Amino acid sequence: MTTPEQVLRADIRALSAYHVPPSDGMLKLDAMENPYRLPRDMREDVARLAGEALLNRYPDPSAAALKRAIRAALKVPDELDLLLGNGSDEIIQMLALAVARPGAVLLGVEPSFVMFRMIATIAGLRYVGVPLTADFQLDLPAVLAAIDEHRPALTFIAYPNNPTGNLFDADAIAQIVRRSPGLVVADEAYHVFAARSFLPAIAQHSNLVVMRTLSKLGLAGVRLGMLIGSPAWLGEVDKLRLPYNINVLTQCVTQYVLGRVDVLETQAATLRAERAQLLARLTSLRGVRAYRSDANFVLFRVTGADKVFEQLKARRVLIKNVSRAHPLLNDCLRVTVGSPEENEQFLAALSASLSAAA
Ligand SMILES: *Cc1c(COP(=O)(O)O)cnc(C)c1O
Repeated sequence: MTTPEQVLRADIRALSAYHVPPSDGMLKLDAMENPYRLPRDMREDVARLAGEALLNRYPDPSAAALKRAIRAALKVPDELDLLLGNGSDEIIQMLALAVARPGAVLLGVEPSFVMFRMIATIAGLRYVGVPLTADFQLDLPAVLAAIDEHRPALTFIAYPNNPTGNLFDADAIAQIVRRSPGLVVADEAYHVFAARSFLPAIAQHSNLVVMRTLSKLGLAGVRLGMLIGSPAWLGEVDKLRLPYNINVLTQCVTQYVLGRVDVLETQAATLRAERAQLLARLTSLRGVRAYRSDANFVLFRVTGADKVFEQLKARRVLIKNVSRAHPLLNDCLRVTVGSPEENEQFLAALSASLSAAA
């Protein structure tokens, strides 16, 4: 008999699968999804496009028409290349595989997006995580020292950061890029909520690329992420891309929706205004400390976070309990900014949960 233990890598067996909790019938505020659907006329156009799509054919391997739509919608400079992934998770994986020489290091900060560490492990990279300061800023001397010591081939900086929600100091990031012997990725998944970007800085740094995604912009279901950078880097990374990684439906639907990206941007503007409301309301609650955010979620600290989280769940409200993800996040919970009605429902449930957990 052959068992998995005999065959599989020990580091893979030691991993836990990425956990997605059940959310049936719950108010879902755990995954930074946009609460708004497309308007009805656009959904009808999408239905027609999907109906006409050539599902019997492989997709355009270069996704040329979609890339033109992305360039126009996201204002990608002509001299930069564009590489598409089945979500930005797939792009993180391509980058990790591309640098995975024996002993190679992937550097991140902690706490940050968990996929950086997970994909490092999967690709066989050594992961080095440098803790943020207690107020969730970059510990620049510590990051620079870690760069000098470990010589990372690949460094990820989420800008804004998840799950803390803040934008790190741009000058500190520029110093990290200059000091790095390897490639640095500015992960701008929440760009539409932050309106700050390292895209213009690519011209000044030969080792900087920018990653974006449509997931937080309102198209989490279609899975489309992108890497923007010089042809010298992207031409190499593209060799790791599996053929046809962006399917026919994703290509035709996102090309169409990006032609009307103003609709998504208007939704994002509403969410930015709602974020300010939510932050103010959370701050006014006794025993709650909420952190300012440049993303579409808010991190907050509350005594007895585990209990509060369970109380919220009992009230059919699902947020994210990050309190044990890292010591700096002790007693922290993360809530996605929803529609005004959803945020009201969450705040009411939270007030009741705080009383019940007290
Ligand atoms: C949500 C998120 C992503 C998005 O991943 P997709 O695979 O594109 O959905 C990437 N980076 C960070 C920091 C995120 O929070």
